[in-house]
Amino acid sequence: MQELLAFQLFVPNYRYGEVVPLDPTCLFCKIIEGEIPADIVFRNENVVAFNDIAPQAPTHVLIIPTLHVENGAELAKASPTITAELFKVAEQLSNEGGLGGYRTVFNTGAEAGQSVFHAHMHLLGGRALAWPPG
Ligand code: 5GP
Ligand code: ZN
Repeated sequence: MQELLAFQLFVPNYRYGEVVPLDPTCLFCKIIEGEIPADIVFRNENVVAFNDIAPQAPTHVLIIPTLHVENGAELAKASPTITAELFKVAEQLSNEGGLGGYRTVFNTGAEAGQSVFHAHMHLLGGRALAWPPG
């Protein structure tokens, strides 16, 4: 209970009026908490963005909600506001980085390549991006 209160103090995540704790076993929750270091490029109460450890383009940022939900669809159900905020942060980072264009991607499910089951938007840019993706 002590631990849950600490989460609530630092990361107020509201879902239908209830506080949603972070998942202490989740890699991205640990990054939110600072328990695992990351190159953080944006942070507010609802969103954290950090450079991907294995970048697939000159700009490859992961933009995540500060609540633990499995994927983008679950995030949309939990908080349309924070879902929209991820897109706003992507636009802001693109503008700050002077990108001529960018791609935002949510991999949902292992078959689509999802390997971390905390919702995250990939922001990719800084080079010409092929279509269709692999
Ligand atoms: P997914 O495959 O789930 O769509 O994306 C997960 C992303 O997280 C991958 O692009 C992977 O490189 C990145 N990633 C995995 N572990 C770490 C880490 O410890 N730090 C950072 N910054 N990125 C990570
Ligand atoms: Zn998490």
